Amino acid sequence: MSQIYLDRLARVRAAMTQQGVDTLLLSVGHDLPYLTGYLAMPLERLTMLVVPRDGDATLVIPRLEAPRVVEQPGVFQLLPWNETDDPTRLVSELASGSTAVAVGDQMWARFLVELLPQLPGASYQRAVDVVGPLRMVKDAAEIDALTAAAAAVDRIAAELQSGRIPLVGRTEAEVSADLSARIIAEGHQKVNFAIVAAGENAASPHHHAGQRIINDDEIVLCDFGGTMDGYCSDITRCVYTGDIASDVAEAYEVLLEAQQASVGSATAGTSCEDVDSAARDIIAAAGFGDYFVHRTGHGIGLEEHEDPYIVQGNRRALEPGHAFSIEPGIYVPGKWGMRLEDIVVSTATGPLALNSADHRLANVG
Ligand code: ZN
Ligand code: ZN
Ligand code: ZN
Repeated sequence: MSQIYLDRLARVRAAMTQQGVDTLLLSVGHDLPYLTGYLAMPLERLTMLVVPRDGDATLVIPRLEAPRVVEQPGVFQLLPWNETDDPTRLVSELASGSTAVAVGDQMWARFLVELLPQLPGASYQRAVDVVGPLRMVKDAAEIDALTAAAAAVDRIAAELQSGRIPLVGRTEAEVSADLSARIIAEGHQKVNFAIVAAGENAASPHHHAGQRIINDDEIVLCDFGGTMDGYCSDITRCVYTGDIASDVAEAYEVLLEAQQASVGSATAGTSCEDVDSAARDIIAAAGFGDYFVHRTGHGIGLEEHEDPYIVQGNRRALEPGHAFSIEPGIYVPGKWGMRLEDIVVSTATGPLALNSADHRLANVG
């Protein structure tokens, strides 16, 4: 196991050298488990991996958290601190003399604010520029983990589409709790979200499932996912509780065509913004352009949302091993909304969709 982390650390150090970064500081967030296998709890007590460009990495950690760390010989040394210690001082000593420091996005502002005066003369940049490009390219084991998580939510989607998950007469919140229980039952350790949005509520892309009772003859948008063995699932399927209204059916055909075109375009070498355009152009041509109000997708891996983002302006070319969602939507305020989402991996031989649950709008009435 240590070998994986040693390899990743070696690549991180190469990126630090290339970018002139002296020290990398990682606290809560997912760069830390990517490099060490350890996910820090988002506590007020400081946990920080200090990676000098040359020299050993040190994990500064509250003494009471240290027993949770699986030591990785050769990867990092543990430096537990006591309640009366000043942990920021420990970090600044390990980083002393650094003039270029890269910090993780999710480090508490408090720790950075305390660190600033202790490393006078240092300039700061985002660690995502150092670690992100490595994290984006998933290895075979990571793709296997994403595939297993995707298969689990596919099975839940199939239950939803077959009508075996009751909808009509239940509240959105009840259905959300039902989906959440199934996410765990299917092998995830954690539920990340279970959006259930009925009828006009589906026009709000991140609607919070509430007390709204699901009725006959309306669309129900379900977007759910969790974390399984460290890697995330994320799927959206819509179902209809009755005979599908013609305006919804027509829009759904456009959405399906757009989503499939975007998946098909996601070959290695294609830019992220062109994958976005593949969906957006079809939706716009059908007159729904103003109703597609978000980017087409996001990278996925240890985090539910990470690089690469499938969005206009992102000219990064897809590489084999990039994993991301393709999830265009159409949202007509006050009426209905719809989204269709798969996780896709770009490979040397073309896009590989990890989700295979039926893409059609099922009548579950
Ligand atoms: Zn979202
Ligand atoms: Zn989603
Ligand atoms: Zn998503």
